[in-house]
Amino acid sequence: MNRKYRKTVIAGNWKMNKTPSETKEFMNAFKSIMPKGRWCDVALCVPAVCIPVAVRTMRETRVGIGAENVNANPSGAYTGEIAANMLVDAGCKYVIIGHSERRAMGETDADVNAKVLAALEAGLIPIMCCGETLEQREAGITAEWIAMQIKSGLQGVSEEKIRKVIIAYEPIWAIGTGKTATPEQAEQVCEGIRTVVRKLYSSKNARAISILYGGSMNEKNAYELLAQPDIDGGLIGGASLVPEKFVKIIEAANQPTL
Ligand code: PEP
Repeated sequence: MNRKYRKTVIAGNWKMNKTPSETKEFMNAFKSIMPKGRWCDVALCVPAVCIPVAVRTMRETRVGIGAENVNANPSGAYTGEIAANMLVDAGCKYVIIGHSERRAMGETDADVNAKVLAALEAGLIPIMCCGETLEQREAGITAEWIAMQIKSGLQGVSEEKIRKVIIAYEPIWAIGTGKTATPEQAEQVCEGIRTVVRKLYSSKNARAISILYGGSMNEKNAYELLAQPDIDGGLIGGASLVPEKFVKIIEAANQPTL
């Protein structure tokens, strides 16, 4: 990470876990052990029905609540979907876009791009995910694949808005598998993402954008990953469901030695 030029962000992705009652329990427990003082930005992206209770419980804290998906349309006949302005009105600050689990359900790069644009327009901070499969890594096409995902996802994002976007590099083979990318593997791709942003925008913007690593990040491996110069935080699944584990990752990000 590089605290001088960009924000460190520790974000949780709860996926389809926890009821509203369990969310309240988690948030109260988390609040009571949250690190005080100097710390990074913290986000918790929760199931849609848990957003109101999460926002209410964390109101007096610096934890931002986020959603796990958004529809790109402003309103209309999209049964079951949620628009960006609805998330804003419900108190969301962040939204995860293009998670590999959603891409596996049919979300395309064009969908991801439309959602990023809609989120920015509404004032949400998009956490745009990208990542390669094991087959792509083994075929040696990781860099090209990620560059393509970043270019497609950011199409039409203006110079003024690019700094609001958070990019999360999540190798698909590392998500929920307990198989973390080595700090060197993760750094290589995150550095590559910054280079793509530099070419699309400018050195200043590339230096300012936060790039997270996600994929079995936990309280044991967080420090080493966060010590890499181009890894500015983490998108955390499993370990964000346990307050003590999530706090330990935040504490790792707060180490003065980083
Ligand atoms: C994720 O869902 O974004 C993720 C990184 O999950 P996990 O930390 O459980 O691998």
